[in-house]
Amino acid sequence: GILNFCANNYLGLSSHPEVIRAAVEALEKFGAGLSSVRFICGTQSIHKDLEEKIARFHQREDAILYASCFDANAGIFEALLTPEDAVLSDELNHASIIDGIRLCKANKYRYKHMDMQDLEAKLRDAQKHRLRLVATDGAFSMDGDIAPLKEICQLAQKYDALVFIDECHATGFLGPNGRGTDELLGVMDKVTIINSTLGKALGGAAGGYTTGPKPLIDLLRQRSRPYLFSNSLPPAVVGCASKALDLLMESNAIAQSMAAKTQRFRSKMTAAGFTISGKDHPICPVMLGDARLAAVMAEDMLNRGIYVIGFSYPVVPKGKARIRVQISAVHSDEDIDRCVEAFTEVGRKHGALP
Ligand code: PLP
Repeated sequence: GILNFCANNYLGLSSHPEVIRAAVEALEKFGAGLSSVRFICGTQSIHKDLEEKIARFHQREDAILYASCFDANAGIFEALLTPEDAVLSDELNHASIIDGIRLCKANKYRYKHMDMQDLEAKLRDAQKHRLRLVATDGAFSMDGDIAPLKEICQLAQKYDALVFIDECHATGFLGPNGRGTDELLGVMDKVTIINSTLGKALGGAAGGYTTGPKPLIDLLRQRSRPYLFSNSLPPAVVGCASKALDLLMESNAIAQSMAAKTQRFRSKMTAAGFTISGKDHPICPVMLGDARLAAVMAEDMLNRGIYVIGFSYPVVPKGKARIRVQISAVHSDEDIDRCVEAFTEVGRKHGALP
């Protein structure tokens, strides 16, 4: 009887019968696992097929699988950038991008969150380096805001830089066909590298990938440490993701169904008097400020059958505690209304609403 409003299961595919069946079939046909990394004896036809499908989905030349997107982010910067290069990173990028950048020896610039003036100043300074890479989340998971990719790509063009985006909170549902932030903002041909996860909208099991130009993917197969030194993805996991991509490429109906639901939640909550951060994204952070208020409200929401979690420092800045609600394509309008009603009651009880 409890409704889950805090999963990254944006499209509801983790419980889709066809996705589950595909996992079982892959398990039966290809076994439980490979007991090997990819380049030894850990590559089966399904791994190659999934990489090809990912590249086709994103309209890129090639793709490479990892055990997680954390690994994809840990592996890319060190493999691609040398001490002669520069990486320019949004200050609110995901921890795995930050860790990946820490591992590389390139010159590091951190620009203010989505601040194009600051990015331009840093790009100007970075002209002295051999190669420049701008790295940003496509959609930021704590605030539900979307990177200004059009402007970032324009600056990248002006200052001869490559653009990297992490699409974990965009792949499968942003843009008319769910291709992601680059499709939503009309820059699919301008973003060079995409990292994303199979552990959220695309079936929710596990796994990550990089997709982009073929020479880059070839380089990662030779040099990327999490790819070279970590086990191959289990067949059942590959089966899930592969079916999820099939469903999304057959029709854009699932991806499209998100937008109206997100809009319903955001507008009803705003009308009730709450402040919802971000815009048009199924991550809907209900901003509360006080950490204790966020925790007790989340607890009380669960008593009313709504599963949500309070986020406070150090996950978000001090004084900016919130309850992060995530809308899924499988939520019905009634589910969303039930969630808003519970928030309104709990908010009044704890003084978050008048
Ligand atoms: N990048 C972002 C923006 C994420 O939100 C996450 C997951 O929390 C990751 C990377 C890591 O993805 P995975 O769970 O596949 O390691």
